[in-house]
This record gives sequence, C-alpha cells and structure tokens, in this order.
Amino acid sequence: MLKINIEYPVMVSGATGYVAGVLIQKLLREGFTVHAAVRNPENSEKLKYLNNVAKTSKGRIKYFKADLLDNGSYEKSMQGCEVVFHTASPFFLDSNDPQKELVEPAQLGTRNVLESVNNTESVTRVILTSSCAAIYGDNIDLQNSKNNIFTEADWNTSSSLNHNPYSYSKMLAEKAAWEICEKQDRWSLVTINPSLVVGPGINPFTTSESYKIIKQFGDGTMKAGLPDWGLGVVDVRDVADAHYNAAFTPQAHGRYIVSGHNTSFPAMAKVLYEKYGSKYLIPNRTLPKWFVWLVGPIVNRVMTRKAISKNVNFSWVGDNSKGIKQLGISYRPFQESLHELFQQMVNNGIIK
Ligand code: NAP
Repeated sequence: MLKINIEYPVMVSGATGYVAGVLIQKLLREGFTVHAAVRNPENSEKLKYLNNVAKTSKGRIKYFKADLLDNGSYEKSMQGCEVVFHTASPFFLDSNDPQKELVEPAQLGTRNVLESVNNTESVTRVILTSSCAAIYGDNIDLQNSKNNIFTEADWNTSSSLNHNPYSYSKMLAEKAAWEICEKQDRWSLVTINPSLVVGPGINPFTTSESYKIIKQFGDGTMKAGLPDWGLGVVDVRDVADAHYNAAFTPQAHGRYIVSGHNTSFPAMAKVLYEKYGSKYLIPNRTLPKWFVWLVGPIVNRVMTRKAISKNVNFSWVGDNSKGIKQLGISYRPFQESLHELFQQMVNNGIIK
C-alpha cells in the first residue's frame, strides 16, 4: 500500500519545468531522494535552481538524462521508485509544426514513459500532469457539459492540430496514459488536471507559457485592453501539493481538476492593476468582441477568429470539489498567486 515512505526514491520527468520545480522543492523538503529526469544533465545553468533548493533541504537530488522521444530513456531514472511523476510535456501555444513540436512529445512521450513503467517492477503509482486542456477545448464547450460546469467526466472533443493544438496534445497524451494503464494491474494512474498555473516558481526564467502570459500583462503588450476571456487559475504550490497528495493517498483515483478560481483575463488584470497599475502598463480596459475579432489575429497569430468566436465573452466554470474532498487540496487566494508571480518577474528584470 502506498504511504509516505522516504526510503524509496521518487522520479520526476521534466524536472527543469515550472510545475516540476515546485513539486521537487516539496519532495526535497519532505526528505525524498528525487530522481530528476532532464534532457541535459550537463546544463548547470538550468539546474542551478534545483541545486539551490536541494542545498537547503533534507532530501537529495540525482539527475538522469532522458528525452520524451527517446524510447526507453526514462527507464534508468525510475529504478527502485514506487512513484513516478510524469510532468514533462511542451507547454507553448505558438507552434509552426504542432504534430512534431507538441503532439509527438506529449503522446509518444507519455507512451514511452509508461512502457518503461511497465518494465519497472518497483513502480506502483504514476501521477500524470495532464491539464484542464484535456477536459475542454473552448469556453463555448461549457454549454454541452452537464449543469454547465466542467467536471472530470468531460473530455476535450473540440481541439485538433489546427485549432488549439496544445490542448489537443494534452488530450491525446492523457487518453494514451489511460489506455496503457487499463491493460495492467500493478500500478495505478492518477491524473492532475490543472487550469492555468500561476504563482512563483523556483526558476524565474522558466520557458513555461504561464510566465509568457503574465509577462504580457505587465510589459505593455496588452496595454490597449483585454478580451473578456474566461479561464481557471491555480497556484503552482497548490498544484505541487495536489501531485504530492495524489501520490501518497492510497484511495486517490482517476482524474482531478486542480483549479483554484473561475476567473477571466480582465479579472486577473484588475488584481494586478490595483497593486501595480501606477508603475507598469497593465491593461484596465475590456475590449469589445467585434474589435478583438478584427484585430486579434493581426497582433497575435494564436488568437484565431475561430478561437475568439468560441472563447471571448464566454465564462469558464470548473468543478474542483473532487480534489478538495479526496486530496485535501486547499487553494491560495488568487491575489496572492498573481502578485507574487508578478513581483518575482519585476525583481528579476523580466517586467521592467
Ligand atoms: P515548462 O516549464 O515549459 O516545462 C516543460 C517541461 O517539459 C520542461 O522540463 C521541458 O524540458 C520538458 N520537455 C519538453 N519537451 C521535452 C522532451 N522532448 N523531452 C524531455 N523533456 C521535455 O512548462 P510547465 O508549465 O511546467 O508544464 C509542465 C506540465 O504541466 C506539462 O505537462 C503541462 O502540459 C502541464 N500543465 C501546465 C499548466 C500551466 O499553466 N503551466 C497548466 C496545466 C498543465 P526542458 O527544460 O529541457 O525544455
């Protein structure tokens, strides 16, 4: 039975990532030996943030070289581990070749990692970092969900290679994971499905799309105003806790929506404007949908007319009750997460 046992190492894929960094920080503080799977263990500049955390924690970190597209490359890193956290997956929205850049690493990568799990006798639980993007594609999909609220019963059926390809990649990856899991009974799979993750990471220069989005709130990109686009938001520390609790709660099962707040881009801007509006070019205007439809695709190619018509002026509502009840997740206030991330970017010269 799974319980918190720091005698066993735990494996984390994509250890250099934003979400993984905060999860590893938690695992190291609890005293675990973390097998950190990274693309390049020689990149000391990228690993210094994890090394700094390890220096002041009870636990130890060991690096292993692995790539999502290199079959079998994760096997060494999971030897002796009971728990595997599979977080690695590219998270960016603007892609020239979504099949190669997003779908293959997400879907094939998940298959590769889980085939290695099948070959590794010690593993009894896998926590997959999925996403709310595997639950829905566009905000308008809410109209087809039961009681107009997204739950773990919903699947994204509206994304494709040409429309929201990142969301498509996450849906395909999670489906692949469930298919592989159902063919065996040694290890159990739990998926964590976060909404947009915010809050301070251990590496202020992370490549995650989360940072790119928040940067745009403060660097003047959106100073003319924002579309009324609904979304869910969650603090990275709450996401780390959810992964941890999912690993060590024996009864945890299935998918968990991990989302602290049902909100929108204008509501996020308001929170930042109240604290930082006098110093930074934070938007304080909501743009009309017709204007976004006309100009959006010209200023940002990710914002297609199809995406605008199906998301702007639509709210997002997610049901986070399963995770609260079964994993004991409690959510930080929205203001705290946004202010602390913004401040981290200011302190590191990312927002000037
Ligand atoms: P991130 O900082 O960009 O992390 C992505 C990680 O994946 C990095 O460690 C990256 O390694 C690794 N990776 C990408 N391609 C790889 C490949 N071919 N082989 C091995 N590793 C590869 O993004 P993040 O926000 O932390 O995302 C982590 C996970 O959370 C992803 O599964 C993402 O879909 C999920 N998620 C994120 C959010 C969010 O709002 N941030 C919300 C829901 C779900 P390198 O450092 O070597 O590039």
